[in-house]
This record gives sequence, C-alpha cells and structure tokens, in this order.
Amino acid sequence: MTTAQRRELIARAVAAKETSYSPYSRFRVGAAVLTDDGNIFDGCNVENASYGLAICAERNAIFRMAHAGHRSLVAVAVTSDHTSFITPCGACRQVIAEFAAKGTVVLLVSAKGRVKRVPFERIFPTPPDLASLKK
Ligand SMILES: [Zn+2]
Repeated sequence: MTTAQRRELIARAVAAKETSYSPYSRFRVGAAVLTDDGNIFDGCNVENASYGLAICAERNAIFRMAHAGHRSLVAVAVTSDHTSFITPCGACRQVIAEFAAKGTVVLLVSAKGRVKRVPFERIFPTPPDLASLKK
C-alpha cells in the first residue's frame, strides 16, 4: 500500500461515515477497503428498526467490493465519531478473512485522525481453513 493509497483509503472511510444511517444508536461508522489491484470501496453502517438487520460499515464496503467483481483485499480502514479506536466486530472479521490477502492490514482511525495499523492476522489469528471448504 502506497502512502497515497493509505491516505485515500482513510479519506474514503471518513467520508463514508457521513452517510451512516444510524438513527437508533447514533453510532456512525465508515469503512473502506483497498483491493489487491488498487481499487477502493467504501461503506457505512446501515441500521434497521429490526435491530438485527443492521449491517456494519466494513461488511457494506466488502460486499460492494465483491459485487464489483473483486475478490482480494489488502487493507481495511474503519472509523467512527469516537476519539478512541474502534475495531471490526466478529462478523466483520470473518467476512474480512474471506477476502484478505496475505499481509492484510487494518487501519483503525479515530475521530481526531489518529491511525493505528494492525495486522489482520493479529485480530483474527485462527481463521477457518477456507481452502478445505472450496470445491
Ligand atoms: Zn461488524
């Protein structure tokens, strides 16, 4: 990931947060993913009156990526309105694992613009053996 890609990825996550639909929690989240061929897809969290139907920003971005035909991501950025870092939930970590390239990184971005770079394998150390499931 180049410095320019890193900056763009973070900017897209921050911008995506602005479109968050979170009338129930008021917890706005934005995310963006960088594919192995340099494309960026972003997403926001979208809540629902039936709470369980809400979708996280990370999965929203990844599903948009998959819909566009991409199958490999190298970085994920996630941000909220909080001054501290937020991390992807368990469901999002599982979905990231589906498409994560070796060495994928997660950029945690605080509302004040601080960035913490975390190797994905550190927050999801034992993913399922996807190769054994594919036919
Ligand atoms: Zn999530």
